[in-house]
Amino acid sequence: MKLLGIKVGNGLGLGKALIIDAKLPELNNGTTDSKKEIKKVFKAIDEAIVDYEEIIKVLKDDDLKSLTEFNKNVLISPSIKIELEKTITEQQCYGDVAIDIYFANKIKQLENLDNNYLKERAKDVKDIRHKVLAKYYGIKEFNPNLLKEDVILVSNEMTANVLLTDNLDHIKGVISLLGGKTSHIGILTTSLGIPSVFGIDVKNILNDELIFIDGNKGFVKTNLKDEEIKKIKEKIKIEIELNKELDNVKEAKTLDGYEFEVSANAGDLTELEKINSIPLDGIGLFRTEFLYLNKTTPPTEDYLFEVYKSFVTKLGDKPMIIRTLDIGGDKKCPYIDIKEEANPFLGYRAIRYCLDHKDFFKTSLKAILRASAFGNISIMYPMISSKEEIIKANEILEEAKQDLIKEKIKFKKDIKVGIMIEIPATAVIADMLIKEVDFFSIGTNDLVQYTTAVDRGNTQITSLYNWFNPGVVRLLKNTIDATKDYDNKFVGMCGEMAADPLGIILLVGLGLDEFSVNMNMVKRTKKYISLLNKEETTNFVDSLLTLTTAKEIEDKLNKYAKEKYGKFY
Ligand code: PEP
Ligand code: MG
Repeated sequence: MKLLGIKVGNGLGLGKALIIDAKLPELNNGTTDSKKEIKKVFKAIDEAIVDYEEIIKVLKDDDLKSLTEFNKNVLISPSIKIELEKTITEQQCYGDVAIDIYFANKIKQLENLDNNYLKERAKDVKDIRHKVLAKYYGIKEFNPNLLKEDVILVSNEMTANVLLTDNLDHIKGVISLLGGKTSHIGILTTSLGIPSVFGIDVKNILNDELIFIDGNKGFVKTNLKDEEIKKIKEKIKIEIELNKELDNVKEAKTLDGYEFEVSANAGDLTELEKINSIPLDGIGLFRTEFLYLNKTTPPTEDYLFEVYKSFVTKLGDKPMIIRTLDIGGDKKCPYIDIKEEANPFLGYRAIRYCLDHKDFFKTSLKAILRASAFGNISIMYPMISSKEEIIKANEILEEAKQDLIKEKIKFKKDIKVGIMIEIPATAVIADMLIKEVDFFSIGTNDLVQYTTAVDRGNTQITSLYNWFNPGVVRLLKNTIDATKDYDNKFVGMCGEMAADPLGIILLVGLGLDEFSVNMNMVKRTKKYISLLNKEETTNFVDSLLTLTTAKEIEDKLNKYAKEKYGKFY
């Protein structure tokens, strides 16, 4: 059975399904010997603390480390044992009941707070409760260090905890119902190169059955027949071959000699280390929001400057496009108090928030400007929906420049400014907006969601989320065409579509200048481009523009891809 989901981490994997939603027994009823229960509960807490300490020791990622520290700190707080002892003694209840009462209160308190960051922590406290109860019952939790065979981890709500180990050899994939590309587990699987697909319900998978995960296309296959397994193994062999061949990839030059820029998306500090080992032509999207998330106070101008400087210095002459803060939507921070919204993706986010908080925005711009003295940096505004917003943002940018001049701090005076095209209104008037900026970068992740009215995180309507919807294709063409009269301007794409093998054909044919993709996809994207002939692809893509359904477009692209990419597709 083929289960369609959301593609998160690239790659293919075959392994036995290991469902790791450890089921906890029902809570104990009645009364019991308090002394014995107190001892048992204290032991459970101590063991959970030791677990967290061991995880912290092996973690390299600072954000995950601080999250795990948070979990540990909840358990080492002296009040926890005092309160549990009190409940058990007063109610003569079993220890699991006391644990449940304690954490239920904590979760409720956090969920009722008016602070989004702390509200989010309620989820972590649920994880802690689960761990302590598992210890109390003596249930062994999943431990990646004990794996003896290849597995694909399956959970309804996978947490990053399961990958907090140096022993990942046997983990061939991760499947979760909940979570998105920007969740911790999503980011972690992508950066570790583990295939992952989300939006898949655990009840469709049997524990221990052999399953296949395709993180490139976003599906999972169960109930595999021998013939299919043979084919999958062959596919994985080719994938390994392709990966070897990818080691020789340097540029993205088509068969008829056109060169395209393939840059990387970045935002996580761990990616700094990868810059020199990947043949990237620059950073086409630096997501600054990761520097703001998981913090209790806003990052300082100096901190932001140092981060940007370290990236741009490592890049040498290569360009780096820094996107100003894209907060809101599903990305929340404690100090950015955005009220609960009925439709956060249509709400107070990104540039909308920044234009209303001028000093906050100016600080972030000053950090980017200061770093521009050290390399080839451009600024990009996200979620632009009108010309007025560009003008307002540029006014604040001008003020930031004046401040730096007064402070006698160097920066690049003619720094290039671009916008993301991710709201249909801007794609429609791209010919008007290109006059205001130096470049566009098309954010298909949002453009598809807004054009087709399909929430990008809603797993029930995943099949409707399609960048080959003719309405989306027309907007892409309109945006790209709008830049063609200007020799000194360019159009890129930093949404996930830029790394899609079929998307690449469409975009080469439409004349996109720059592809900005996940670090892991740079070589692959270059390889696919180099297997195409630009003139021929342009003619082929012209023939797609009259098709009226996504299926027709996809079918034709599929046929073309098979022909051009051969065994690599
Ligand atoms: C996009 O919308 O395509 C994009 C790149 O931005 P994000 O995924 O961060 O919203
Ligand atoms: Mg976006």
